[in-house]
Parts: sequence; C-alpha cells; structure tokens
Amino acid sequence: MAQKKVVIVGGGFGGLFTALELAGSADVTLVTDDDHFVFTPMLYEYFSGEVEAWHIGPRYDELLDNNVNLVVARVTNVDFNAQTIELENREPLNYDVLVLAAGGVTNYANVPGAEEFALPFRKIEHADTLRHLMVDALDRIPPEMPPQDVRRELTFALVGAGASGCELSTKMSDLLVDAFKRRALHGEPRVMLLEMGDRVVPGMGQQIRELVEEALLESHVEVHTLTRVVNVARDGVTFEHEGNQEQIKTSAVVWLGGVRMNPLIERLDAEKNKRGLLMVQPTLQLSQRDNVFALGDIAFYPDADPTLHGTAQLAFQQATLAGRNVKAFLENKELHSKHFEEIGEAISLGTERAAVLTGGKAFGGALARQARFALYTSRLPTWHHRLRVGASWFFGGTAPRPLLPLGLER
Ligand SMILES: Cc1cc2nc3c(=O)[nH]c(=O)nc-3n(C[C@H](O)[C@H](O)[C@H](O)COP(=O)(O)OP(=O)(O)OC[C@H]3O[C@@H](n4cnc5c(N)ncnc54)[C@H](O)[C@@H]3O)c2cc1C
Repeated sequence: MAQKKVVIVGGGFGGLFTALELAGSADVTLVTDDDHFVFTPMLYEYFSGEVEAWHIGPRYDELLDNNVNLVVARVTNVDFNAQTIELENREPLNYDVLVLAAGGVTNYANVPGAEEFALPFRKIEHADTLRHLMVDALDRIPPEMPPQDVRRELTFALVGAGASGCELSTKMSDLLVDAFKRRALHGEPRVMLLEMGDRVVPGMGQQIRELVEEALLESHVEVHTLTRVVNVARDGVTFEHEGNQEQIKTSAVVWLGGVRMNPLIERLDAEKNKRGLLMVQPTLQLSQRDNVFALGDIAFYPDADPTLHGTAQLAFQQATLAGRNVKAFLENKELHSKHFEEIGEAISLGTERAAVLTGGKAFGGALARQARFALYTSRLPTWHHRLRVGASWFFGGTAPRPLLPLGLER
C-alpha cells in the first residue's frame, strides 16, 4: 500500500526537527527555500569566527537520509481544498498531511529606508555581509587619522536591544577593538545600540539583565534607550530621543528590531490571532483542518510559557510533539498535547563571555561561555553532526577570527 504523503514547509527548528522525528514513518518531504539549516542562536559566533559555517549551517543533505525527500524551493501558496502546495518554478506537491513551519521574517516596522539600507541578521550570508562591511570600513582608515575622525568613520548602529542586539553589538565591538590594536589605529570605534523601550533585553529577567548591562559597558557599546529610529539612509541613520532628532553617519546599520509574520502565512485562509499567528489546537493541528499542523514562530500555541513565544526553544520542543502527533494521526490513534516550559536562557556577550540562566540562577563570564557551547552542542541536529562539531570545538578551539585586512580575510 502506498505510504501517506507528509509535506513539511520550512527547514528551521520546527520543520527540520519534525522531519527528523518522522523519518521512515511515512513518505516525508521537507520543502525549504535554502539548502542548509541555520542554528540561529550561534549566528553571532559564526559572525565573530568562533565557529565555522558547517558547524551551525549544515546542509540538509548531510542531515537527512533516504527516509526524507528534500525539495529546495520557495513555497508560494497552499491550497487546503486541493491538498497541494505551490512552488516557485516547480510543479505543485500533493499532501495527505501538511506541517507548516515557515518561521518569521525581519520586521522593519515601516521605518523609511530600513528595508532598503539596513542589514537584517538571520542568515549566514547576513553575517558575511556585515563582516565584509566592517573590514571594508577599517581598511579605509589610515593609521595617522586623528581619533575623532576615526570614531566618525567607524560608527555602526544596531537597532533593537533585545537579546540579538546585545549579543551582536558586544561581538562587533570586541572585534573592532581588537582590530584597532592590530592595526595601531588611534581612538576607539563607535558601536551604538538604539532601543525604543526603556531597558535592554526587555523579555529577560533582572538577573540576566545585570550581566548584559555589565558586558555592554565592558565592551564599550553605547546604549541609547527611549530612542526611536525614524530613518535609515545608505550612509546614515536618524533617530529621535525626547523629541529631538539626530542624524549621524554610519558604516552600517543592522536591523534587529523584531520579527513579523511570514508573507506565505499572511496569505492563508485560516484562523489567526490579532498578530497574524495561526491558531493551533493543543495537538498543533489547525482548528478546522485536522490534517494540517503548524508550529514555531508562525503559530499561537495555547499552552506554553509566554516568554517562549518566538523562540527556537519552543519550536524545537514542539517538533517532537508534531512528529508524534502526525504519526498518531496517520495511524488513527489518539493525539497528545503538552505544556511547554522555559528551559533556561543563554546569551553570548562579546567574544570572551556569556550569561546563562539555569535553575533560576544566572552566572556570567568565561565559564558561562563554555557552558553555552556545551549546551548548544547537545541541541544541534543529529547525533552524527553533534559529534563532529563537538570534536571540532574540543580539538580545534573556538577562538574568534580577527578582522584582518581584505585579502587576508577568508
Ligand atoms: C540571529 C538570531 C538569533 C536567535 N537566537 C535565539 C536563541 O538564542 N534562542 C532562541 O530560543 N531563539 C533564538 N532565535 C529565534 C529562533 O531562531 C526562532 O524562534 C526559531 O528559528 C523559530 O523556528 P521556526 O521553525 O518557526 O522558524 P525558522 O527556524 O525561522 O525556520 C523557517 C524556515 O522556513 C524557511 N522558509 C520560510 N518561508 C519559506 C517559504 N515560503 N518556502 C520555503 N521555505 C520557507 C526558512 O528559510 C527557514 O529555513 C534567534 C533568531 C535569530 C534570527
């Protein structure tokens, strides 16, 4: 008898881990628009050269065996009635069961110029582009340039002081300070973190915020809270604080100001909440379509700690439930639900340290950095990949890669 067709849309935390859970139990196809996974919590370490692309961005064909078909293509639409998904430049695919895990996209909040000129930070190529811009800016500074001119020429602005903004700004600053020493430049670089709210890492508790604030200070990141970015241009940014606007020249603006709904999901005729998230039952099924499951950043799951929404932690945990429930659905067995809890927080802070919250206690420094590496080794997909990466980090080390002049950069 022909096996039932399960199609999974999106190869991130939700989709990839569901595919791995389901491998071999049906005719499983993973459809995703890139040829590799991205372990986003360590994209900062990739940017700083502490880890390599293959560690955190393994190709799907290395992670999946013959039990999962891989289609690298963009899904343009879903026809629930015909049970098909439409693909860019390819024939549509039929499904018996559909799993939606397409994730979010960068939210530029309609700020003029932001989408055109600010860099997003979600993919390997975004990290590469940012590194190149920094090297390029450094290469233009002659050693005799006076400190005040150097500072103006080497100004980088990051928008949004959530975990991403704090992690990236401290890495950028540490790398730039190191490059200044190596190149014997005068003065200091300027790394600015612009935040609309009144505090950094607003979604995290006070214990971890104190460690983050300490690290921002030590890394010389200039934090501007209650500051709203109103315009981004090719070579600058304009922001407003207490009614006053200021325009500055920048070498790059990085946009870390939030996530919005994936356009594919926006187009779907399904029940959504006010924020456009798909409403799912505690079994992860859509309310009126039992054969469609949704998880991760696109779904509103009723039984999860509120701090978990929009995290890899949640998508990763939901994938196990999704895999089990899809199997149960195919076998006409009872489906299950689960309460998802926060399992701790880990945030990298510059190239030397991190902060980790576990069991209600936060600790920071070099030890936290080691703990974070150990924790994330265990979260990477597949045993085989985990072992290869763990061995590489253990034997090869995880020292950052300096911002060398163009030509010496690899
Ligand atoms: C830089 C960064 C750092 C982060 N750090 C952390 C952290 O430390 N801890 C944490 O818990 N969370 C973190 N997050 C959040 C976390 O990455 C997300 O919550 C998580 O990835 C959500 O999983 P998902 O499966 O819903 O979506 P994603 O992992 O985003 O996966 C969606 C996949 O679908 C693909 N896709 C999208 N649209 C289509 C389409 N139309 N057709 C085909 N494929 C499509 C995408 O390319 C992607 O592969 C971070 C996010 C970023 C960007």
